[in-house]
Amino acid sequence: MIFSQTPIYLLKQIYPNAQFHLNHPSYIALTFDDGPIPEVTEYVIDVLKHYNIPATFFCVGENIQKHTGIFHKLLQNKHSIGNHTFSHLNAWKYTSEEYLQDVLKFYKIYNTPLFRPPYGKLKPSQYKALLKHNFKIVFWSVISYDYHPQMTVQKCLNSLYKKTIGRQIILFHDSQKSFRLISEILPSYIEFCQKLKLTFVPLK
Ligand SMILES: [Zn+2]
Repeated sequence: MIFSQTPIYLLKQIYPNAQFHLNHPSYIALTFDDGPIPEVTEYVIDVLKHYNIPATFFCVGENIQKHTGIFHKLLQNKHSIGNHTFSHLNAWKYTSEEYLQDVLKFYKIYNTPLFRPPYGKLKPSQYKALLKHNFKIVFWSVISYDYHPQMTVQKCLNSLYKKTIGRQIILFHDSQKSFRLISEILPSYIEFCQKLKLTFVPLK
């Protein structure tokens, strides 16, 4: 495996109250981190609209402020919004208080209980502080590695196909770095899920 990421089973042990899966065997959730970004997020919105499916966007507060029009387009299209911090912080470099302030700065722009930590990193004290503030912490069960420069379209799709069953929360990115792959894989992947008769659900 050329990619390194903390394995899900370990994350589940460290963050027992976080969400990793859905509660129904025929449900699947597509999630997109790091937007809104011009062109990329707009492309994703158009594809989702074409297939008439909902998704969840873990937005960065700074990007919402820079690209308000695209953020409103997400809302108009009834996608779920999650907090991905205001400044896309790496939790390990900040105190609990600093981290929480950044999360709450996002919360003031858009009020949502859904939260996903950038890089999947959280110190135990930050995790506890977020739970205390009633955030619903959501990780993922399948990573697409859509941001990885060595990933090819076919490799990315094959890896997703192998892991796709009900209950999964799939991690994509609507970022500039991921656009090369996302723009190629998204329609094929959605059609694959449709053939498996999976129902796309937004996170709540
Ligand atoms: Zn991120």
